[in-house]
Amino acid sequence: MNDIARGATFAPEHTAQQELDALWMPFTANRQFKDRPRMLARAEGMHYYTPEGRQVLDGSAGLWCVNAGHCRKPIVEAIAQAAGSLDFAPTFNMGHPMAFELAQRLIDLAGAPFNHVFFCNSGSEAVDSALKIALGYHRLRGEGQRTRFIGRERGYHGVGFGGVSVGGIVGNRKMFGTMLPGVDHLPQTWNLKETAFSRGQPAWGEHLADELERIIALHDASTIAAVIVEPVAGSAGVLVPPKGYLQKLRAITEKHGILLIFDEVITGFGRVGQPFGWQRFGVAPDLYTVAKGINSGTVPMGAVFARAGIYETFMQGPAGAIEFAHGYTYSAHPLACAAALATLDVYRDEGLLTRVGELEQHWEDALHSLKGVRNVIDIRNIGLMGAVELAPRDGAPGARGYDAHCKAFFEEDLLVRYTGDIIAMSPPLIVSRNQIDEIVARLRRALEKID
Ligand code: PLP
Repeated sequence: MNDIARGATFAPEHTAQQELDALWMPFTANRQFKDRPRMLARAEGMHYYTPEGRQVLDGSAGLWCVNAGHCRKPIVEAIAQAAGSLDFAPTFNMGHPMAFELAQRLIDLAGAPFNHVFFCNSGSEAVDSALKIALGYHRLRGEGQRTRFIGRERGYHGVGFGGVSVGGIVGNRKMFGTMLPGVDHLPQTWNLKETAFSRGQPAWGEHLADELERIIALHDASTIAAVIVEPVAGSAGVLVPPKGYLQKLRAITEKHGILLIFDEVITGFGRVGQPFGWQRFGVAPDLYTVAKGINSGTVPMGAVFARAGIYETFMQGPAGAIEFAHGYTYSAHPLACAAALATLDVYRDEGLLTRVGELEQHWEDALHSLKGVRNVIDIRNIGLMGAVELAPRDGAPGARGYDAHCKAFFEEDLLVRYTGDIIAMSPPLIVSRNQIDEIVARLRRALEKID
């Protein structure tokens, strides 16, 4: 336990029913949760601790974000120091040194062809920022008619209106009207018959990228601003790109002058074995978004990386004119920057951004050992991401996934994510081989206990 945690007041063992009621929880079945709360009070390294003191193995890096492990001392100290020395500084028409230092560090990490970073506070904001950059870029080049976006079915790009419009998860869209006009979607790439139990990138599915040509033919390329996809769809349950698929998207977008945006909110910062997913897949987009792992989930932060030429396109007009009328009060917040700088040091000193390369085979073999366990219909993996898909119960889709999650949490002291009947995992990048085996053993026991 670090010094700051030692001095802290711990959460009470029981949260009063009235307090449970007061909070409108995000992306949660509120009534179900409040009937059976699943509380986390403290965290350290690879573990959470419940208010009663139960130690829970973190199989999901919090929410795909705590890549350096929990409450790492250098990161905690950097945040504390920033809070005591520069609590806030405006970044509209003003600056503070950490913002510039962090931008440079990130650009150094990305390397060519990326040369500028725009800061925001979340993945959702990063996506909306990237979509706006794409529109502005075309307009400034005299192609203001390029206003359409193309996302993908089952894509998750956060919850801003831009993000849900290009996103492809029905439940996140249906309540919110017509959203952004002029958005089309590529087909998703998972197929039970063709890709079940693939290890790494499936051999089937490259042809699905050709659908982009069909959509372009329908609207004409001159009307399309950008295509946005996650290199690996995370929130929809780890949908790994088929071999050759991302390369094909890149070739088609390039041919038609359409920007390619990768949403790397999950795949960024070492999750798939390179600092960024595009490096692993060998496909450089024009813009890409990050958040989560940028400071190991400690302080809200997101960013957009821009390929050389995009920022420069905006730098026209009178020098006193604001070139991009967009930004957030907390863009490059000092606490977030301090946390990110310290996190990048931890990543560098411990080799975490490439460590997954050493673990990936072990992770893959461990996960796939669950083949044959009751109700398991698919297992997929890449980097340190993995999913185990369960057959839905008749007439009750999602119930089995929820049961598996609860069994794992309450009876096996394991935190995994569930989305419908898919169990998704993405442990912190500090995980040991033994802990990988432990995650899989606990999940196996949980799955064997549910019907
Ligand atoms: N984009 C992707 C690919 C994500 O996985 C997420 C969150 O999981 C987001 C965007 C949204 O990020 P946030 O919840 O920080 O707004």
